[in-house]
Formats: sequence, C-alpha cells, structure tokens
Amino acid sequence: MLLTITNPANDEIITELETDDHVSIIEKFNRSMSAQLGWARSAPEKRERAIRRFSDRLAERQELLARTLTEETGKPITQSRREIAATRDRIHFFLDHYKALLEPESVWSEGDMVERISYDPLGVVANISAWNYPYFVGSNVFVPALLTGNTVLYKPSEYASLTGLSIAELLYDSGFSDEVFTPILGGAFAGQELLKWPVQGVFFTGSYKTGRQIADICGRRFIPLQVELGGKDPVYVADDVDVAVAAASVADGAFYNNGQSCCSVERIYVHENIYDAFLETFLDTVRAFKIGDPMNEETYLGPLTRKSQIAVLETQVKGALDGGARLLHGGKPIVRPGNYFEPTVLINVDHTMEVMTEESFGPIIGIMKVRSDREATSLMNDTRYGLTAGVYSKDQERAELILRDVVSGSAYWNCCDRVSARLPWSGRRDSGVGVTLGKEGIRAFQRSRAWHLRRA
Ligand code: NAD
Repeated sequence: MLLTITNPANDEIITELETDDHVSIIEKFNRSMSAQLGWARSAPEKRERAIRRFSDRLAERQELLARTLTEETGKPITQSRREIAATRDRIHFFLDHYKALLEPESVWSEGDMVERISYDPLGVVANISAWNYPYFVGSNVFVPALLTGNTVLYKPSEYASLTGLSIAELLYDSGFSDEVFTPILGGAFAGQELLKWPVQGVFFTGSYKTGRQIADICGRRFIPLQVELGGKDPVYVADDVDVAVAAASVADGAFYNNGQSCCSVERIYVHENIYDAFLETFLDTVRAFKIGDPMNEETYLGPLTRKSQIAVLETQVKGALDGGARLLHGGKPIVRPGNYFEPTVLINVDHTMEVMTEESFGPIIGIMKVRSDREATSLMNDTRYGLTAGVYSKDQERAELILRDVVSGSAYWNCCDRVSARLPWSGRRDSGVGVTLGKEGIRAFQRSRAWHLRRA
C-alpha cells in the first residue's frame, strides 16, 4: 500500500512511500529476533560508539533534517532545528548513565552464598511513535533501548515517516545494522500488525484512544508496556507574579509548536486580583505571534500537522461559545491552503466545556478566573489526565504546596511545557504508565534477574 506524504503548509504532495504489510512485518520481526542475542552480547563500547556517531551525524545534517521535519509536519523551522539540537543533549544524558546501569549488583553474601541482581535487555522492543516531536519521542526509546542491548522495531507516525526514515539512515550510517534497528512504515494497520508478534516490550507515544487499545492487547499477553499519552495540562497564575513575565511564558507554553505538545499548557487559571492585567498582556503576546510559512525564519505558528484536528478545534470552540464562553481572539481556520487555525483565546469558560476537559492539541486556550489557591488546586485536579501542572508565583513555598496536591507526573514552578533528560518523564491517570528519560528511563529497557549463587 502507498502512504501519501502531504505538506500541511500548502496541501501539496511531497511523495508516496511503500508501507509495510503483514509479510514484511513478520520478516522484520524474525530478523530482529535473530539479531537480538548477538547485539545484547556485543561490547557496550561498540554500541556506545555507534550512538556517539549518530549524535554527530544529527549535528552535521541538522539543517537538512530540520527542513524535512518542517516540510512534513509544518513545525516552524526554528523549532525543528531546536528539537534536533536538544535531542543530542538527551542522547548525551543516556551515554553518561547507561553503563553503570548495565553492571550487576551483589546485594548479599554469607558464607558460600551470594545473591546478585543482573539487568538483562528486554529483547525485541516495539517503538510506536507520535509525530509531534519525532526526534524526542523516538530517541527517548531507541537510544536507551539500543544501548542496553535490545533490538528495536521502530514505527514512526505516518505523519513523520520521512523523519523516521532519516533517523534509520543516520543510524545505519553510524554503524547499526537494519536488523538491530528496523523501521516499520505505515499507520494504524502497521502498528496493529506489529503487535501480533511476540515482541518483548512495547513503548508507545500517542493518543489516549490508541494507547488504550494497545494496553488491552499487551495486557492480555503480559508484554511489558509503557504508554505516554496526552494531557490537559493546567497552569495557575497566582496574584503575586510579575504579570508580564508570567503571561509571556504561559502564552509560549500554550502556543509553542502550535499547541501540539503533550505538555502544552491546555488550561489557565488566573487569580482574580491580577486577572484583567494578565489577560491584557497575554492577548498582546498572542496578537504578536507571526503566523505563516513554517520554512520562514520569523514564523512562530505554522499549520497544524493533521487536517482532521481543525474539526476538533472548531467543535471545542463552538461548544464553549454555546455554553456561554467569550471569544477574545481567533476561533476559526485561516482561509489559505494548508491546515492553519487562528490562535484562539476563550474566557468565561468552565469545566462543562470540552475545551477545559479534553486535549485540544492545537492553538487554543481557555482562561478561567479563580478566587483562591484552593479553588485553583481543585480545578487543576478536576481532570482524568495527569501529565504536567504549573504554578506561577514569587513564593516557592506557596507554589510547591499547591503542586504537592495536584496529581501530575511533572510539576513546574514559574515555567511550563518543559522536559529534561535528567528527570523522569511520566503521566498519571489517563496520561499513561511507565517512565522515559532520567535513569528510570534507561532501566525501563531492562529486566532484573535474581542470581542465587553457592560456591561448591
Ligand atoms: P496516535 O495515537 O494517533 O498515533 C500514535 C502512533 O500509533 C502512530 O505511529 C500511529 O500510526 C500508531 N497507531 C495508531 N493506531 C494504532 C493501533 N490501533 N495500533 C497500533 N498503533 C497504532 O497519536 P498521534 O496523533 O501520533 O500523537 C498525538 C498524541 O500523542 C497526543 O495525544 C499527544 O499528547 C500524545 N503525546 C504524548 C507524549 C508524552 O510523552 N506523554 C509525547 C508526544 C505526544
């Protein structure tokens, strides 16, 4: 079957790619399985050298890779470059820490008896990936997986397939074989076919809906699974902030990458004492965003990657307005080729409206006035998701007390929409299970084995 790759900035077809089918996926799985033991027994230094070369290649070809990413996803070119550069930081975190985590640990000994734990690779892992940050969400998985001795069947999103193929090419050029790292091309069908085979770990990044389906399959077959899903990430702006600084930071958190980040700010609660001043500066920031061709150096907002998301945003805006919300900015698609939507700001919103409860994944934000920290905490927790939450306040103690009571995998004080390789990245509730990044995000690709050893 052919997969058509379309440029979301102008609706032009970039190319068509042959997707994987039932037969090619079995072949790829079998080859990956046969190669895994040899790869696991290869010297860690060999694996490390290849990953270092991969990082160097990313730097050498950054401009070309960034252009490909922008062309197929519509991400502004400056943001594409930044993603690739920051991917190298993540890789270096893994390189700095993986080796210590390969070492077995002796945990007890008495007389002739020793107890030891070793950390084995999972085996063949499936990496089913989203399109919004393909370098980040891909490398969070395949870099630590490869370093710890797993082979990887990597299914990039159908919306970032050219980037997926570029990643594969770079890895081959860096010394990996196509059995150790194998791309699988296609959409939902390719993902479903891949999961029919006895992979030994599944690492998924994507929507709640798909994550749910994958969890059902893996749960039935006891396959270790991580799912990194969406969120409805809240920010609370307390009444002691520098309003201009907070408004600019939160606006960037809501609209960077067109709001298409799992940790984009999706709901804003503002203390009534500063509400009017906050709105004014927030709107000034939004009005100043440069919208246009994502290849243009000045562009801050390009097109949405998925055309179908326009209908989701329109429904959320309509639902909010029908429920009594007020539109302060935007609210509709932009009439031009491509998937453009106006940056949209809604007030007088509440939690009966989808715009405050379901992931928007686009350039749209609801802002609610609150009377107290307590009310903000309660509203922030009124969600089925739990990825990130942020508080803006001059008072660290005040912010940390609020954040302590909000259910989320990441907590932000005076910042938002931020991921660090040094910290575990995880979701609570319907935002997922498992951890990537941090040392735990390396351990995720290993399983422990208990050794009971008695000297004869
Ligand atoms: P998606 O669920 O549509 O697709 C994700 C991947 O799953 C794609 O590769 C797709 O082809 C594949 N897929 C689709 N249906 C499948 C099926 N039935 N079986 C197997 N594979 C299948 O999600 P998306 O649109 O690519 O990504 C956007 C979502 O990802 C948002 O909800 C966003 O919040 C989330 N996300 C989360 C994180 C995180 O770290 N928590 C990071 C990035 C994106």
